[in-house]
Amino acid sequence: MRLLKVCKGKIKSVTVKRVASGKLYASILTEDKDKKPDVKIDIKKTVGIDMSMKDFAVTSDGERANYPRYYRKSEKKLSTLQRKLARKVKGSNNRHKAKMKLARLHEKVTNQREDFLHRASKQLIERYDVIGLEDINLQAMSKGLRLGKPVYDNGFGKFREMLAYKAERCGKILVKIDKWFASTRLCSNCGYQNKEIKNLGVRSWGCPACGTLHDRDINAAMNIGKKAIEQTTLATRGSDASGEGQSNTTY
Ligand SMILES: [Zn+2]
Repeated sequence: MRLLKVCKGKIKSVTVKRVASGKLYASILTEDKDKKPDVKIDIKKTVGIDMSMKDFAVTSDGERANYPRYYRKSEKKLSTLQRKLARKVKGSNNRHKAKMKLARLHEKVTNQREDFLHRASKQLIERYDVIGLEDINLQAMSKGLRLGKPVYDNGFGKFREMLAYKAERCGKILVKIDKWFASTRLCSNCGYQNKEIKNLGVRSWGCPACGTLHDRDINAAMNIGKKAIEQTTLATRGSDASGEGQSNTTY
């Protein structure tokens, strides 16, 4: 058995899972009560994140995080293996072999995805104090876009989960932005609503009101960041600014 990470605190539960390839995985849930991080939130360190199919995540600082090429490669290989398996005769030895091969690759792809998501979320939590994320309806999104593969397969949901617990653990703030908020159509500079930005093909646009040139995703991320600042300021104004005794995560 290989321990992937040393854990601190009192062990609450251990879950052992056997995956299709036969390997065993154990998840250990611990409780670390004494370690409540006391972080002074700097509102200037706010970032907005726009989730996109093209780049995975785009930040209001203009950075794009995407899956590494090797992950996309294994993903492609996975669908090839799936097709191959479908052609094998049921109950045959070849089918069994193909199944095992597929299971092993599946596991590899899952691990690669988790690894990327962990890294991407960790980086954000380390660099920023307030993180705004759009509350997207993943199921509706995958239906609406009529994509061959469900959007939640892309790891959006997992990413959100990771950001939430990492923010909690590090005393940072994750702000959920209402999904009806039209981040894509709004000019982040002047607030003009450009109703023509509906189809996903529009990658960049110039604001007819103030003339600012926008990258579609960065502009959306900037709007999400602005909204996150707004909501955080509202929340801290209403209560003790030290936030004692309450969770920082509004997500
Ligand atoms: Zn404008």
